[in-house]
This record gives sequence, structure tokens and C-alpha cells, in this order.
Amino acid sequence: MRHMNIAIDGPAGAGKSTIAKRLAKELGYIYVDTGAMYRAMAYYFLTHDIAPEDEAAIAAACPSISVTIRYEDGEQQVVLNGENVNGVIRTEEVGNMASATSVYSVVREKLTDLQRRLAAEADVIMDGRDIGTCVLPDAQVKIYLTASIKARAKRRYDELAAKGAACDFDEVERDIADRDDRDMHREVSPLRQAKDAVPVDSSDMGIDEVVEAIRHIIARSGGQGEKA
Ligand code: C5P
Repeated sequence: MRHMNIAIDGPAGAGKSTIAKRLAKELGYIYVDTGAMYRAMAYYFLTHDIAPEDEAAIAAACPSISVTIRYEDGEQQVVLNGENVNGVIRTEEVGNMASATSVYSVVREKLTDLQRRLAAEADVIMDGRDIGTCVLPDAQVKIYLTASIKARAKRRYDELAAKGAACDFDEVERDIADRDDRDMHREVSPLRQAKDAVPVDSSDMGIDEVVEAIRHIIARSGGQGEKA
């Protein structure tokens, strides 16, 4: 039997992971965070002093990198060459490095394979930038979750401030704009809305409202999004 695949794509800070995690729990699906995989590879490049613009060094390093995932208490853990790196990949530095190095097809191919295998083995909600357009073009449900730059920057700023990190709103906004620009304009698998994806703009919506809206979209698409 073919497994149910739900793809959620969108720019940084749109709320994809929060929403996908909640829905996965409700539906009993596996949540696959593909950004974390790009972050794990970025962490490898950072800790091996490989510059993001050095494509040759990145390509040479790729065969020595193994990224796998496992689940602990339902939470995805990313394992890089045998080491659980979940605790070290959530920084802005790693996020920016992931955005800079995810432009290379050698990096993308490695992770796309893993993502497709996971989707073939289980019912998944997978979030990222190219899931509906490239990784799972046949996903039964595709959502394009977005929000204005201001709304996304505010969320990211509040998150950082809650962690006690010193940050400047304008800088956070600039960072998000740069990330959007790179993710949307790269040559390989740029971020864009798949033709058959349903757009959801979460700028003026709370988490519960977005979850509810997406639950309806899943139900309409023949999935099991409607609670009994
Ligand atoms: O979603 P997250 O911020 O963790 O992703 C980090 C970076 O990884 C993104 O800015 C993007 O460049 C890259 N990415 C990607 N394709 C995906 C998921 C993430 O290119 N499917």
C-alpha cells in the first residue's frame, strides 16, 4: 500500500516545523524535518573549516558525510557520522551555512535520496523548501505555508529573545530576507510553490488557526485530516 505523504514547503520562519509536528502527532504520522538534515551537513562543513563558496571542497567532503535520522520519544534526531547533532544545529550560524551550502546539487542529492526512502517507508509529513516540487512530486497533499517578512522576522526575533540571545530586529529581518533570496533564486530546486500546492498565509494567524486550516486541506484532499 502506498503511504500517505504530506509536503509542507515555505520560507524560513513561516511556522512549518511547529505546524507539521502538531499535525504529525494528531495523525500518527512521522514528522520529517529536512532542514535539520541540511543543517547537519552545514555543521560538518563549519567544523571542518570548509568555506561555503568552496564547491570543490564541499564536493570532496560529501562522500565522507553520513546523515541519518532516528526517533526518540517521537522527536527526530539527526545523526551525523554516528554523532547525534540535534543540540548543535539550531543556531543562526548553522542555518545560514545550511542556506549557503544547500545550493549545491551534490549536497541536495545526498539528502533527497534519504528523504524519498523515508517517505516510501511510512506515512509522513515532511517539511522543507523543495518537497512538493522535487522530493515528493506525487505527495497526496501539498501545502505552501508562507507569511510576510515582517511577521516571520518578528517570530524569529521573539524566539531568539526568549532564549536570551542578544539580537537586533533589523538584523533578523535582513537575515531572513537574505535566506529567502538564496533559497528562492538558486539554480537547483529553488523554493517555489508547487502548481498543485495549496497556499496558506499565516501572517495574521495563530498556530491553532493554521493547524485547523491545514487539517481541512488534508481532509479535502482525501487524507485523514478531519478529527473523528
Ligand atoms: O528549515 P531550516 O531553516 O532548518 O532550513 C535551513 C536551510 O536548509 C534553508 O534555509 C534552506 O536553504 C535549506 N533547505 C533546503 N531544502 C530543504 C530544507 C532546507 O534547501 N528541503
